[in-house]
Amino acid sequence: MHETSLVLAMCSQIEEMARAQKAQEVLSITVRIGEVAGVEEEIFAFAFEVYKKENPLFKKSELKIEKIPARKKCLACGEEFQGLSLKKCPRCGKEQFSYTGGDELQIAKVELMVED
Ligand SMILES: [Zn+2]
Repeated sequence: MHETSLVLAMCSQIEEMARAQKAQEVLSITVRIGEVAGVEEEIFAFAFEVYKKENPLFKKSELKIEKIPARKKCLACGEEFQGLSLKKCPRCGKEQFSYTGGDELQIAKVELMVED
């Protein structure tokens, strides 16, 4: 399941962050998932639930997911627009476009608990 490896990658990145700041716990993680990133939100969340049970650092972490809508750019006129359901450019009506966003998977925010 590729969501599991994405969770692993995300958590090891956060772990490094936490270690660098000498944090005891990760309180929450906000992650941005693009509409066309090919990530199943529910599976991703589930994989995280599984992961956090085995990792004390993440025991109390809350996972927040922000969905990022797909952005497209018309190849004919350069118009940029949003929305997966739009199959035609709203300006010129052509049906050829590329994605300029919505394929991201990124950590937006991490809250750490640091005690000394
Ligand atoms: Zn166009």
